[in-house]
Formats: sequence, structure tokens, C-alpha cells
Amino acid sequence: MRLMVTGGAGFIGSAVVRRAIAAGDEVLNVDKLTYAANPDNVAMVADNALYRFAKNDICDLAAMSALMNEFKPDAVMNLAAETHVDRSIDGPGAFIQTNIIGTYALLEAARGYVGNGGAPAQFRFHHISTDEVYGSLGPTGEFTETSPYQPNSPYSAAKASSDMLARAWRETFGLPVIVTNCSNNYGPYQFPEKLIPVVIIAALEGRDIPIYGKGANIRDWLHVEDHADALLLVAREGKPGEIYNVGGRAERTNLDLVKMICAVLDGELSTSPHAPHESLIKFVTDRPGHDQRYAINCDKIERELGWTPAHTIEQGMRDTVKWYLGNRGWWEKIRKRGFDVAKRQGLKT
Ligand code: NAD
Repeated sequence: MRLMVTGGAGFIGSAVVRRAIAAGDEVLNVDKLTYAANPDNVAMVADNALYRFAKNDICDLAAMSALMNEFKPDAVMNLAAETHVDRSIDGPGAFIQTNIIGTYALLEAARGYVGNGGAPAQFRFHHISTDEVYGSLGPTGEFTETSPYQPNSPYSAAKASSDMLARAWRETFGLPVIVTNCSNNYGPYQFPEKLIPVVIIAALEGRDIPIYGKGANIRDWLHVEDHADALLLVAREGKPGEIYNVGGRAERTNLDLVKMICAVLDGELSTSPHAPHESLIKFVTDRPGHDQRYAINCDKIERELGWTPAHTIEQGMRDTVKWYLGNRGWWEKIRKRGFDVAKRQGLKT
């Protein structure tokens, strides 16, 4: 396939790019290269004849139209977004701009691309979203593709808005749109402001490991490569007009997840002066609007497209911790760019 992937220098987008190239797909990676991007995430494919990169903002409608009309993708996969919930509380503006206006510009560009007869018959506009649009669950129940939208943070509200635009462009203009909503991802190449790399790096350095509230919030975790495989399967075989929920059936409280990471670190770094790493856990003031529980029912994508995750959370998390230990240079470089993990978390350095 010819895939136009937006946000392909980020965490999930780069996994999609790497796996698509490995599968023999041609990829045009369109990324504005915000603070969250990292060209190192795609350095291994940069010289591949199947790979092209365009540094552009998805809000730039003229540029998106030109790229589609020139590259002639079989599918547009929209992963470009502002993604960090804490940042959306500090400053929602960029989230409104990229997640809503950017998605609008891409939908309009795709409408023009299909309308002028340039798109292949099998063209799909694949919008990548999150389970956070569904809001928060109590102790029981799961989100399905028909769950009502009840976003609680500026991030999830902006993502929910973009999902609604995608729906409207499908209903009103007949654009062959597919939306996927996925649970929390973990794995290599995740920007070190997100929970899992924050925990690993803090533990390694003997700093406090921050956990919001009492660590009782529950998330469903999926390995990023399993998500990337699901996305590529949907881009190839998903039915236009459909929504697919993607999840790992691996619900954990934040506290249990952090303890799991600490146990792996204890095993890997048994002589560390900071072991047992669990002793570094520090509960910090909860963030406002913090959803209690997310759980995804992914029966539909399993049943209709035959997708199943390949990683268990135990093995996937062990591999992930080892990756951050073995690829110190990757995150040290981000730190040298001026990103301060400890300061970002409001912790003593
Ligand atoms: P990320 O923050 O790691 O990467 C986002 C990428 O988008 C970066 O490379 C950034 O430079 C690029 N970008 C941002 N604004 C842009 C713009 N205006 N124009 C072009 N490029 C721009 O994000 P991620 O964690 O890889 O998430 C990717 C997508 O998956 C997002 O839409 C997110 O909502 C969704 N998602 C993420 C998770 C998760 O756990 N990380 C779970 C479910 C869904």
C-alpha cells in the first residue's frame, strides 16, 4: 500500500512507519516535528527507498492537499496530535489547533483528493483516536464502539471533537472514514514525559517515582507494536464507515503497574543502591478531571479482522524496561535538547 502517515516521528506513528516499511508498504511520513517528535525513531528507515518524509503542519490545508495529490496514497493514517493530558491542562490551545483544526484540514484535503478523481477506489481515511473520548468507568463495564462520548480533559475533548468531524465527513460527504479508539500504549520510543518512561528513568536515577493520588486509577495497556499492527490491518482491511476499538485486555491500577516496573528493575539492577525501587514511590496531588478507569472491549476487531495482541503485559513490560535500560542514549539525547523529566513532574531533582 501507499500510506500517508501523519505524526510518524512520534511514539505510535513511528511504530506504524517502521512496521509498514518492514511489510513492504510505501510510506510518506508527514510530521511537524514538535517537541514530542524524534527523528531517531525512524532513523532506521530514513534511507529506505520505500520511505519519504515531509516536514509539514497538518493544519496547512494547501500543503496536505498537495501531498495527497502528489503521493496518491491508498490510505491516510492520521496520528498527528498533541497527546499529553497534563500539557492540555496547562495550555489547551495547541490541542484545539492540531487535534481539531488539523483533522479538519486533513479531512478537507482528502475530500478534494477523492473528489478530483485522484484517489484509488480502495482509498480510506483512517483517523486514530483514543479510549479517553468515552470518559471514565466505574468498577465494572467496558467501552464498546457505541459507548457515549464523555470526554473530561481538554486532550480527550479535542480528540472527541476530531472523531465527530471524521464522522460528519463520512455521513455528509461520503468520505470513506474509519476511526479506531485505542487504550494506553507502552513500549520503546515513548517520549519521556509519559508515565512508563518517567517511572523507569526516575527509578534508575534514584529520584522519587511520582504517582497521582493513591495510584488507584485503572488503565488498559497495549504494546505499541500490537497497536501498530492493528492500525495497519484496519488500513488494509477495515470497512469504511466503521469504528474499531483496540485494547490489550490488560487492566492494571497505576500503582500495580509501577510496582511491576520496579520488580523488573530490581531483577535487572540487583546491585543498584536504589533497589528495592518500589521504595522510591511518592504519591503526588492528583490532577483535575483524572478519569478513574478505562476498559476496552475489542471483540469487534478480533472477530471481524482477526486481530489479537501478540504481547502479554508481563513480557511486554519486561522488554520495554530493558529497552530503556539498553537505549540510554536515546533518552539522554532528548534530555540534552533541554527536556527535564524531573522538573516536568514537579518533583525535587
Ligand atoms: P506523540 O505525542 O508521541 O506523537 C505525536 C506526533 O505528532 C509527533 O511526532 C508530533 O511532532 C506530531 N505532530 C503534532 N502536531 C502536529 C501537527 N500540527 N502537524 C504535524 N505533525 C504534528 O503521540 P502518540 O502517543 O504517538 O499518539 C499518536 C496518536 O495516537 C494520537 O492521535 C493519540 O491521540 C493516539 N493515541 C495515543 C495513545 C497512547 O497511549 N500514546 C493511545 C491511544 C491513542
